[in-house]
Amino acid sequence: MNENFVQQGAIGLRRRHRMVKLLQVNNLKKHFHLGKNEILKAVDGVSFHINKGETFGIVGESGCGKSTAGRTIIGLYDQTEGEVIFNGKNIHTLKSKERHNFHRQMQMIFQDPYASLNPRSTVREIISEPMEVHGLYPNKQDRLKRVYQLLEDVGLNRNHADRYPHEFSGGQRQRIGIARALALDPEFIIADEPISALDVSVQAQVVNLLKRLQKEKGLTYLFIAHDLSMVKQISDRIGVMYLGHLVELTDSSELYKKPMHPYTQALLSAIPIPDPDIEDQRERIILMGELPSPINPPSGCVFQTRCPMAMEVCSVEKPNWKEVEVNHFLACHLYDKNKTGDHDYSQVAVTR
Ligand code: SF4
Repeated sequence: MNENFVQQGAIGLRRRHRMVKLLQVNNLKKHFHLGKNEILKAVDGVSFHINKGETFGIVGESGCGKSTAGRTIIGLYDQTEGEVIFNGKNIHTLKSKERHNFHRQMQMIFQDPYASLNPRSTVREIISEPMEVHGLYPNKQDRLKRVYQLLEDVGLNRNHADRYPHEFSGGQRQRIGIARALALDPEFIIADEPISALDVSVQAQVVNLLKRLQKEKGLTYLFIAHDLSMVKQISDRIGVMYLGHLVELTDSSELYKKPMHPYTQALLSAIPIPDPDIEDQRERIILMGELPSPINPPSGCVFQTRCPMAMEVCSVEKPNWKEVEVNHFLACHLYDKNKTGDHDYSQVAVTR
């Protein structure tokens, strides 16, 4: 068969594979009741999907609800409203056996490699535990072989198996956390700020490791981060969260080239540019005030109390979530001609 034809077929197959939805999140809400009439709306109506083999990044300041969204998706929290569809099944209505299987397919890497590993267990015990819980590799020797293989997969080696977490650096501990997440051969991994507790020099190594593992094992990631510069390195598409809401969502390259939401523009303006000439001209958008409390969020647009572009309508009417350009979703009145009257704000997007 013609080699080009085979190659094109393979590329087409890969593309089609990427367009298959693995996860669909519909109007997800997670509210915490804190006592007398106080409700903390950590996640307040978030919708997005993730295709197979893709990395979807969620970024936002701490307290914006991104980690709570991740934990609700994986089932660590029950959702208040909305649904999470994984491989065509609503995970919050799964029966216990199905739920057990589902937990094999969806795993989590935690932010703090210091706190997420049991200090009294050896690396071998830490990585073996999920296999034991799920009855995988019941033969001890097979399980040990699997542990060795996983250690090699993450750039460690079998000599590390009988050591304890305190004997490792932060980057190595995160590698152990990744090996544990891979132990059940999952399809989908939620990485909750997996690099923010690490030195800058180690962050890129862990991101590269995650990218390599994705290629080798066909993994799909939800990558949660507050650092926009690093999330760009790994994500195909990115959603920006503010106070429990998604405010912008598009392809990674599009978001960096043409951020449209004033909050995204402010976040991006804070990233230093490596070219000193351009860096000198970089204009920072300084946001006024603190992130409001999710217990008492602002009326209308949640960003209106800090938005440099806020209009009258912003404090009374919540902007709709809509596709303003192909694959570019946004919640902002600036791009709605009915709300801006005679003003044309369509040029407010900052091109970097
Ligand atoms: Fe700013 Fe109004 Fe857009 Fe909200 S809707 S981001 S307040 S311009």
